Amino acid sequence: MSDYFSDKKVFVAGHRGMVGSALVRALQKRHGVKILTRTRQELDLRNRSAVFHFFHESRPDIVIDAAAKVGGIKANFDYPVEFLIENLDIQNNLFLAAAETGVSQFLFLGSSCIYPKFAPQPIREDSLLTSSLEPTNEAYALAKICGVRLCSYYARQYGKNFFSAMPTNLYGPNDNYDLQTSHVLPALIRKAHHAKYSNSPSLVVWGTGTPRREFLHTDDLADACLFLLEKQVPAGEMFNVGCGQDVTIRELAELVCKILGFKGEIIFDPSKPDGTPRKLLDMSKLFSMGWKPKIPLEDGIRSAYAWFLENRKDLAESSPV
Ligand code: GDP
Repeated sequence: MSDYFSDKKVFVAGHRGMVGSALVRALQKRHGVKILTRTRQELDLRNRSAVFHFFHESRPDIVIDAAAKVGGIKANFDYPVEFLIENLDIQNNLFLAAAETGVSQFLFLGSSCIYPKFAPQPIREDSLLTSSLEPTNEAYALAKICGVRLCSYYARQYGKNFFSAMPTNLYGPNDNYDLQTSHVLPALIRKAHHAKYSNSPSLVVWGTGTPRREFLHTDDLADACLFLLEKQVPAGEMFNVGCGQDVTIRELAELVCKILGFKGEIIFDPSKPDGTPRKLLDMSKLFSMGWKPKIPLEDGIRSAYAWFLENRKDLAESSPV
């Protein structure tokens, strides 16, 4: 059976993370592909000479950059220096090594937070750099914007086949369930789980509950990434990857509580930041190429909760911090 990825060496940078592990699962279903991975102990992506050595030695055909220092609204706001510098180091090293060793396709994963805080909704790819960013995650966004732009600069200046995908808010296996640094969905799953099993009368949700967010399962993102690689999209392009629908944080909290069976009160804590008011991606570009997500939010939350129970017994069986 012939497969686009047959006999190709694909380096998934960040394969232990939520996105990288989804990419590895998706690639493992492809025939004849050789998946290259390195743990952080084996290869520190912030170390330029180590990254160059790895590329010269292993000669990947395709690179997918899913390696990044990531975090939720609080971590991003508290540690802007690390979020900017570490992400620039990681992505620059990968770009430079890929360019030098003649990698044939490089897919850079950005984030929907690269778009202006008050971008017209749904957000089109061409909204990039039209006005100011959301302050809570500006540092991370700046690093990702550099990556997106470097893809187009490499394409224009050196004819390199580098392009980028902009995922919306993601969730899935290997998500971060630390309440201080996680994103909202794993936080709500953990909080609702503990509230239910400790018979708590209520559950606290950060902010006002009015911000709107779009959520995509990482298996859908991985599917979109392989679709884009296989389509051999033009160098330098960027593609939004979302599901085209958003919910308020209140609706999300209600849905999580319904799925987990927590019947207590949902209390909002407006002393915590709301972040950007809305972040819904315009999906016309990718949808018109024939790609569609397959995992509805409710099914995805059920499977994320099953993963949490199965794989994070340490957290599920202890009391929350
Ligand atoms: P963002 O999309 O970059 O703002 O990242 P988050 O996923 O961290 O936050 C999304 C929204 O969910 C924000 O409005 C948060 O205030 C809200 N939120 C509500 N409860 C929580 C929580 O327990 N953790 C996090 N991270 N966000 C929460």
